[in-house]
Amino acid sequence: MSTLSTVVDDLVAGNRILAGLDVLDGFGHVSVRHPDSATFFLLSRSLAPELVTRDDIITFDLESKAQDGDTRTPYLERFIHGEIYARRPDVQSIVHSHAATVVPFAASSVRLRPIYHMSGFLGAGAPVFEIREKFGMTDMLIRNQEQGAALAEKLGDRSAVLMRGHGYCTVGSSIPEAVFRAYYAQVNAELQHRAITLGGDVTYLEDEEARLYDETNRGVLGRPWGLWKAKFAPKD
Ligand SMILES: [Zn+2]
Repeated sequence: MSTLSTVVDDLVAGNRILAGLDVLDGFGHVSVRHPDSATFFLLSRSLAPELVTRDDIITFDLESKAQDGDTRTPYLERFIHGEIYARRPDVQSIVHSHAATVVPFAASSVRLRPIYHMSGFLGAGAPVFEIREKFGMTDMLIRNQEQGAALAEKLGDRSAVLMRGHGYCTVGSSIPEAVFRAYYAQVNAELQHRAITLGGDVTYLEDEEARLYDETNRGVLGRPWGLWKAKFAPKD
């Protein structure tokens, strides 16, 4: 069983890793479900991920309300996390990113599909959330529970969802898995773009190939996670 302290350390590491890998910059965030209670989650106060420390972590309920009288400024888009946790009991960690290579696939009719095994979690292609469908003209952000719920519904039972004109989210059964998926969604977008620009037919992983590698990946996830922690996590 993970202790709260270990989980908070991993959450800080996840923030630093994704900043170090250029998946997150001044924006974007990483959360984890509370290890002691499934109806709460942990997320930093509004802060660039590269600067997040243990002391910046806030506990939220699934309505994305800060607990324990915490009045520090939260992320505007915290509702992404509360609404996905509320609908996906299997999800233990969520990443939201605006990584540049992925954004074109959220704007195009070309779906983000797995170009290689590392991104098998994309399956038959990541769904794209269109905020205009239910909310008309917005600033594109997920600012309330209703918008978070619509995004969570578009995600469905998948591992990633793209957001038109905005970015994407990945989910996982652990912090390392959600972080891995956020990173490899970005890498896949770059490789898929290169394959398309070659001009020939592009062959993507079949659903079954993608599913089989996603299973394999759970057994080897500790290797990149260990590397990334050594490179980017706080040393103290
Ligand atoms: Zn955002």
